[in-house]
Amino acid sequence: MKIRQNLHIHSSHSCDSACIPIANIIKEMENFGIKHYALTDHLHTAYNLPDIASARNDFLRCCPPENFHFGIEVSCVTAFECEEIARGNYTAWGDTPVFGLRYLEDFDGRMAIGITAEDVEKYGIELVVAGVHWPLGYPRERMEVIENYFQQHMFLISHPLVDVLAHPWDSITLAAGDWYHYRDQEHIDRTIYRDIPKEYSDRMAQELLKYNKPAEINFPVVASRFPEERKFYLDMLTDWKDQGVKFTLGDDLHYMNFSRDQFIAIEQMLTDRGFTDDDFVLPFKKKN
Ligand SMILES: [Zn+2]
Ligand SMILES: [Zn+2]
Repeated sequence: MKIRQNLHIHSSHSCDSACIPIANIIKEMENFGIKHYALTDHLHTAYNLPDIASARNDFLRCCPPENFHFGIEVSCVTAFECEEIARGNYTAWGDTPVFGLRYLEDFDGRMAIGITAEDVEKYGIELVVAGVHWPLGYPRERMEVIENYFQQHMFLISHPLVDVLAHPWDSITLAAGDWYHYRDQEHIDRTIYRDIPKEYSDRMAQELLKYNKPAEINFPVVASRFPEERKFYLDMLTDWKDQGVKFTLGDDLHYMNFSRDQFIAIEQMLTDRGFTDDDFVLPFKKKN
C-alpha cells in the first residue's frame, strides 16, 4: 500500500505545542505527493474557538488547494465543563481552561464535544477527528480507567458530528499511571494494554461498522518505540481490518516538518500486516 492521505495535522494555531505554519504544510505535503491532507487543530471546548477561527483565516489566506481540507480534532469532554466555560465560570475551578476543566473529581456521566453543528458550518469544517485525550472524572482503579476510556470511545463513535475516531486507546498509559497529576515518565503505565479486554475493542469495531465511520491509524502511536505498545495497536487494527472496519491515516504532526522516514516505515508496517489501498476512506463532510 501507499500512503495517499494524511488527515491529522496540527499547525501553529493549535493550543498545544504544534508549530508548523499552514503555508509549510501545503508545501511539504504537495512535495510528499499526498493526495488528500487535512488540518486538524485541537478544540477541547468553546474556549479554543478563537484558535480555530485564526486557523481558518490563515488557511484561507494560504489559497488552499482543493485536496487540502479544513478539519479539527475534538476531545471527549464533560457536558458540565462545557456549560461552565460557556458561563465564563472557569477561574472558580483553579485552572485556565485551554484543556477544558480537567481534574474535576465529580463526573456525572454526561459526555460532550466542544463544537456545535453551527460552528461546523461557520468555520467551514470538512472533517471532525475525535479522540480520547484524558480520563473524565478521576478513575483510580485500572479497570475503572479502562471502562472510562471505553465509554468515551463509544460516545465519540456515535456522535453525529464526529467523522473519524482518532488514535483509539492512545493516552490510556498516561491515565493508568496517573501521569495527569504527576507529569513524569514514572507515571506512564504501559502494562495497561494487557488488561484491556478484547471484548471492548471488539465492541468498538462493531460500533464503527454500525455508524459506518473509520478509525484512524495514527503514525506516532503505531510507530511507538515500545514493542509491546506497537504490537497492541497493530494487532488490534489488523483485527479491525479483518472485521471490515475502514481507516484513515494521520501523522498527528506537532513538529516543524513531516518525516519522510516515518511515512516509509508506516507504509512498510501496514503492508506487512496485509493492509491495502482499499482499507482507507476519505470521510469528509459534504460541502454545501
Ligand atoms: Zn489526539
Ligand atoms: Zn492530534
